[in-house]
Amino acid sequence: MKLFDLKGKVAIITGGNGGIGLGIARGLSSVGCDIVIAARNSSKTAESAEAIRDDYGVRVLEVELDVREQDNVESMMKRTLDAYNRIDVLVNNAGINIRKMPQDLSSAEYDEILDINLRGAFLCAKAVYPSMKAGGGGKIINIGSMTSLFGGPKLMAYGASKGGIVSMTKALASAWAVDNIQVNAILPGWIDTNLTRRARVEIQGLNTQVLTRTPIARWGKPEDLQGAAIFLAAAASDFVTGVALPVDGGYSANI
Ligand code: NDP
Repeated sequence: MKLFDLKGKVAIITGGNGGIGLGIARGLSSVGCDIVIAARNSSKTAESAEAIRDDYGVRVLEVELDVREQDNVESMMKRTLDAYNRIDVLVNNAGINIRKMPQDLSSAEYDEILDINLRGAFLCAKAVYPSMKAGGGGKIINIGSMTSLFGGPKLMAYGASKGGIVSMTKALASAWAVDNIQVNAILPGWIDTNLTRRARVEIQGLNTQVLTRTPIARWGKPEDLQGAAIFLAAAASDFVTGVALPVDGGYSANI
């Protein structure tokens, strides 16, 4: 058994057209995995898919998906099975943040964050389950956050969604162990993406704060998530399930 080889396997990455999702899609491609990139912006998806095909020579299916819509999720599964006839890995990465004090957050904004970050991950996991079970197993990787562990004044709904991701990971891991489906979470530290570029504008002094608090003393890059994602997608992690692995340059280890 090749511990880190994903040739012949198929991975769906929600929000795989940019940032952390694209970094993970590139990482899984680099060990031979065929890819499904599923996100809302189809021109961004087409551009990222083309780059992966050029760089790694794997197959990439482009799917327009809003994780809030159950019929979108189901049609993504159907298109994946039509194209590849299997699903081995699901990376629940699609996510948003709206940074506001709890008293200023509307109930519609709360719903939007929870619906995309948490309910979307549930819908995708539920939708892949039958084909993973029928195929003899699979790997689900949920993307949490440092807010899975820590609070913050403008992170109430986002933190609730990411705390929920860890609870969901543990529950799915125990429910589906019998089906040989391992479910784990990755908790990224501060990673340089569109999401955090906006945060740098919104939060004064954020750059200095991140560099001071992170022992490795730099922002993460989407590529920094690749090693953990390959491990959790491959046979190397067959006895690992229900864990939440920080990939954070030491942020969560540092007071
Ligand atoms: P980006 O904004 O760069 O990427 C977010 C991705 O999610 C995009 O590809 C976007 O594509 C997709 N997306 C958003 N909403 C939906 C939706 N409703 N349906 C389908 N896809 C959607 O941010 P990051 O790469 O930084 O974030 C990726 C994940 O990592 C998120 O879950 C985030 O919470 C998490 N994270 C990020 C950290 C960081 O420091 N950057 C730290 C910890 C966690 P499109 O708009 O085309 O739909």
